[in-house]
Amino acid sequence: MKDLRMRAIRAAVLSALLGAALLLLAGCGASRTPDGERSAAEKPSREAAAAVYDPTPAPTPAPHEHKWHDGVCTICGAECPHERHDAQSCLCTTCGTETEHSYLNGICTRCGAGPEFHTELIQLPEDMGVPAEEHGELESFYYALGTGEVLPGEHGTATAEERKMRNLVVYTPFGYDPEKQYDVLVIAPGAGHFARYWLDRPNRLSGVFGRIKGRELLDRLIEHGRIEPMIVAVVEYYLHESPEDVAPIYEADLRERILPFLAANYGTYASVDEDGRLIAAPEHFAFAGASYGAMVGWQILPDCTDMFSYWGLFSGAFRNDEEMAERINGGVDAEHPINWLYAGDGDEAPGWSAYKHRVEYLDENCESLELGKNLSFVAMKDVEHGFSTWNNSLINCLRVFFRSRCVPAG
Ligand SMILES: [Zn+2]
Ligand SMILES: [Zn+2]
Ligand SMILES: [Zn+2]
Repeated sequence: MKDLRMRAIRAAVLSALLGAALLLLAGCGASRTPDGERSAAEKPSREAAAAVYDPTPAPTPAPHEHKWHDGVCTICGAECPHERHDAQSCLCTTCGTETEHSYLNGICTRCGAGPEFHTELIQLPEDMGVPAEEHGELESFYYALGTGEVLPGEHGTATAEERKMRNLVVYTPFGYDPEKQYDVLVIAPGAGHFARYWLDRPNRLSGVFGRIKGRELLDRLIEHGRIEPMIVAVVEYYLHESPEDVAPIYEADLRERILPFLAANYGTYASVDEDGRLIAAPEHFAFAGASYGAMVGWQILPDCTDMFSYWGLFSGAFRNDEEMAERINGGVDAEHPINWLYAGDGDEAPGWSAYKHRVEYLDENCESLELGKNLSFVAMKDVEHGFSTWNNSLINCLRVFFRSRCVPAG
């Protein structure tokens, strides 16, 4: 029955096409006058078109009161256009669709609430313990460092020979489509940690949820609808005497190699020019660092807001408050604002309160940073210096990364 109907439809379509072809041929035959101008007779004919197509317009639904079902009107197919949602459930107050918080200067434009960060491990949402059914992929790349980039001295477990090559590990989410554009998070790992350490090794999340690979944490955050699918790249650095020594090499690596590579080879909002130089998209790029990686992050921040507008710096600070405030005031401008800077630590970690005071100093002394507007400090309760802090800080960051904007006053 179905078969027959298909055959009938096919026959009708074929004869219509044949008719169209004949009409076109007939048109062509009489088409050109000797001087090449078109004669009036061969203009595309409405009658001919009408013989082939049935231009019945799609019915416009009569004016109606939308009937919402899962955020789509069952009468006209319109999708949730509403501006308000409930602060707790995030459900649209009109049609019930779940819509993300969207922050402007620290306030959600849909509900008027600020971001809620969890400060205790027991506040972790239960679905963080539910394994993802679909998984993203990891790719690994090795590249050689240039002259002067291989620093002498110890670096965790890396031998001098290994230190000549640097490793980049890239996570792409499940269903990744290179034709689409994704937000990008770049991670600087802790001292002596290889690029795979965070993403591909089970590290502590909490007492209840135990250990989890970073890649699985991302899978769960995406699958449970807590973040949008994104690309995450972990970039190694090698230790030297101080984060200040490492920072210029690391910054150049990001600017000249890593970000152009990601822009040229992955679906991101950034691109490269003819010479392979980065055309950055800082509103779609975030940087996170842990421990020594955070200390390096602080050192590059004042010069890198043209590449990244979101910063998560966990368990690693800077040494000189005045100097850092001065550098931020000199380097961060209205053209390249910090959309959010999340500083975090565990409250069992040595030096966490000193770190908090440093962040408060920046709040008071930097025009471009304001606690609650685009700056936060969270000390995770009963947690030491380690992956539990970093994984939980990462979850918190991603509540505001790529969905908060800071518009500087004036
Ligand atoms: Zn409707
Ligand atoms: Zn709605
Ligand atoms: Zn909201």
